[in-house]
Amino acid sequence: MKKQYLLILIIATLSFLFSACKNEAGYKTLIITGQNNHNWKASSPVLKQILEETGLFSAEIMITPEKGGDMKTFDPDFSKYRLVVIDYNGDSWSERTNTAFVDFVKNGGGVVIYHAADNSFPNWKEYNEMTGLGGWGERNQKDGPYVYYKNNQLVTDTSAGNGGSHGKRREFLVLTRITDHPITRGLPVAWLHGTDELYSQLRGPAKNMQILATAFADSAAGGGTMRDEPMLMTITFGKGRIFHTTMGHADVGGGPSMHCAGFITTLQRGAEWAVTGDVTQKVPWDFPSAAGVVLRPDFKEITLDEAFTHIGNYDIAKSTKYLSCIQSHLRSLSGDEAGLLSMEKMMVKVIKDKNATIDSKKLLLHELSWMGSDYSVPVIKDLEANAELKDEAEYALSRLQTK
Ligand code: ZN
Repeated sequence: MKKQYLLILIIATLSFLFSACKNEAGYKTLIITGQNNHNWKASSPVLKQILEETGLFSAEIMITPEKGGDMKTFDPDFSKYRLVVIDYNGDSWSERTNTAFVDFVKNGGGVVIYHAADNSFPNWKEYNEMTGLGGWGERNQKDGPYVYYKNNQLVTDTSAGNGGSHGKRREFLVLTRITDHPITRGLPVAWLHGTDELYSQLRGPAKNMQILATAFADSAAGGGTMRDEPMLMTITFGKGRIFHTTMGHADVGGGPSMHCAGFITTLQRGAEWAVTGDVTQKVPWDFPSAAGVVLRPDFKEITLDEAFTHIGNYDIAKSTKYLSCIQSHLRSLSGDEAGLLSMEKMMVKVIKDKNATIDSKKLLLHELSWMGSDYSVPVIKDLEANAELKDEAEYALSRLQTK
């Protein structure tokens, strides 16, 4: 009996220790939401999932009173957290909460400003210093300059005018402007972002701010400024670090802007930098290039193995998920002969697979036409006898033989 009792005690102690460890894992993160002109009920759980996917954060969502409610009851203990994510655009907080938040950041707390959080609190001086740039809320020249790139020059523009605009939602190219920052180190210089609002004409104090990435607001796409507008920014405030992403307009379930592997990765890296000043996360295999958007509906990284396991089932009408990450990866390997050859071998395997779909083979043949080598020529030649693939095979061969 005694032995049995001891065993139970040991098991209980161990399981307590394990669960305690689990609770301690990750930087404690507070996501504040509850009022927004956006679908915060959709976006906040997605932000939590994206951060926790890294294994670096454990996040909780705190919901403020509704519009017009008693804000005195919203009184978070910021000192319990390493990171605060703002997914909020609504009523002013209490003076006491504002002071506590300013102290948290001044003393080294990390902050993520997400999308419409930069619309919030137009009259709160310190908050606007933390966001660097903001929009709407009757912001104009009294709030600070417009800051953007024009002809690859950083411009601080004090001209009069309202702050904040965006054109029609669309996919757009994001350009990395500072390539040696921990957040952007190793990212492609240009990558295509999933359908989103391109925030433009933001203005604010812009103190202690670096613009890491921009996107060109083309007037041809509707409502554009013809400037390269800030997309990702870092700001320091006292000892605190703030990462500001203007991207991620949420639809139900997140939508293409939040499913974009570029949005997810930059948010994860920006959040880590805000906490520690450095980034330990690897650039994921499926990070998009300029060639195409990569969407992760489940927010998990698509691995090379996974992409090649699924590409053979490719049905053009259903999903481009796996093809787009293979395409992006191929473009990023351009010039790397050994890297391309190892991809080519995997592609040839799919092409030879009797169970792979015709659609998948057509698409892979198209890719092989520019990056293939002598390795795939005999396999492609065999396909000239295949009525369904004859055209694609001939096209690929003609391109490969003029290489
Ligand atoms: Zn929006």
